[in-house]
Amino acid sequence: MRRTIFGFVVIVLFQAILLSGCTGDAAAGQPPVEEEDFMMGTVITQKVYGAGAADAVKEVSAKLKDIESRMTINQPGGEVNRLNAAAGKEAVVLSGETLGVLETAVRYSELSSGAFDVTIGPLVKAWGVFTDQPRVPEKGELERLMKLTDYRRLKIDRGHSSAQLEIEGQIADLGGIAKGHAGDEAIAIYRKHGVKSAYINLGGNVVVLGKKPDGTPWRIGIQNPRGPSQSYLGIVTVEDKAVVSSGDYERYFEKDGVRYHHILDPKTGYPASSGLIGTSIIADVSMDADALSTATFVLGLEKGMKLVNSLQGVEAIFVTEEKEIYVTEGLKGNFKFTDQSGEFRYVEKS
Ligand code: ADP
Ligand code: MG
Repeated sequence: MRRTIFGFVVIVLFQAILLSGCTGDAAAGQPPVEEEDFMMGTVITQKVYGAGAADAVKEVSAKLKDIESRMTINQPGGEVNRLNAAAGKEAVVLSGETLGVLETAVRYSELSSGAFDVTIGPLVKAWGVFTDQPRVPEKGELERLMKLTDYRRLKIDRGHSSAQLEIEGQIADLGGIAKGHAGDEAIAIYRKHGVKSAYINLGGNVVVLGKKPDGTPWRIGIQNPRGPSQSYLGIVTVEDKAVVSSGDYERYFEKDGVRYHHILDPKTGYPASSGLIGTSIIADVSMDADALSTATFVLGLEKGMKLVNSLQGVEAIFVTEEKEIYVTEGLKGNFKFTDQSGEFRYVEKS
């Protein structure tokens, strides 16, 4: 009985927060400006409050389109495509923005000892997870492509504003970090327009500016990796933060009863099977959170926890295939376990 009442309260809260704006809207005077776009392979939702909101939302949509065209490898043209086309041949002059994202990608490749690898492109392409015809590549093919997956052979030269992939056939893939960068750019644009309160969700990469207009913190749901969409394992309470999730449930295909998902382990060539089914990272910078959510998903609970604990101001939630939930020490006060499926267990000690 108690549970039912609690569940009801949670659902009502979520509808209030994530589905129809804030119950505090009326108190704050103005409804948000809302916008939904399909870009960067995902649905992007903005919810922006205050006087500058309409202009800010428009500018953010245009900026996201610009980032997509620079960084995608799924459409022709663009800076990263030029970098990839010149692999093994020459350095390519790139914008400061793209160089910055590549640099951060290399930094997280180093920090995670290659669990995150910005040159994962040939493997991603071989699996075809983003195409209509995904396939399970031969072991020999994977072994050959794993040799091309080596972030140490991506050289960035700030002095010449250029970057180079040193081995022919190498492909830089910013799929694990570009949406994070886009979230940071969005927040910068909101600020520029004087916005004090905003929410943007780029397919599981949530970034919030300030507090909700009613003055309370944002409450962000953590998706149940095995439940229907918008069923949550818990809620984190945040302001001015990014909450970025990765998991094996976001994009996958099944063949002969096996689930193959889109986050690959550069050390095996296969989808990561570290024992985790979901990771969420809470950080000030959305690009950091994005790289880390992918990296920790590959690293697994123990190594992922160690990496996150080595970084200032970064918190995490890990969900294991045993359906146990672990959170970092600093998050304990801000995480509320709300699983309604009854299948998950919140492990307080970690
Ligand atoms: P999503 O894009 O679904 O939110 P992620 O942020 O975890 O999830 O990024 C997954 C994407 O990152 C993949 O689609 C692929 O383009 C790329 N990727 C896959 N494995 C790795 C890896 N080990 N290191 C870096 N990027 C990866
Ligand atoms: Mg990521």
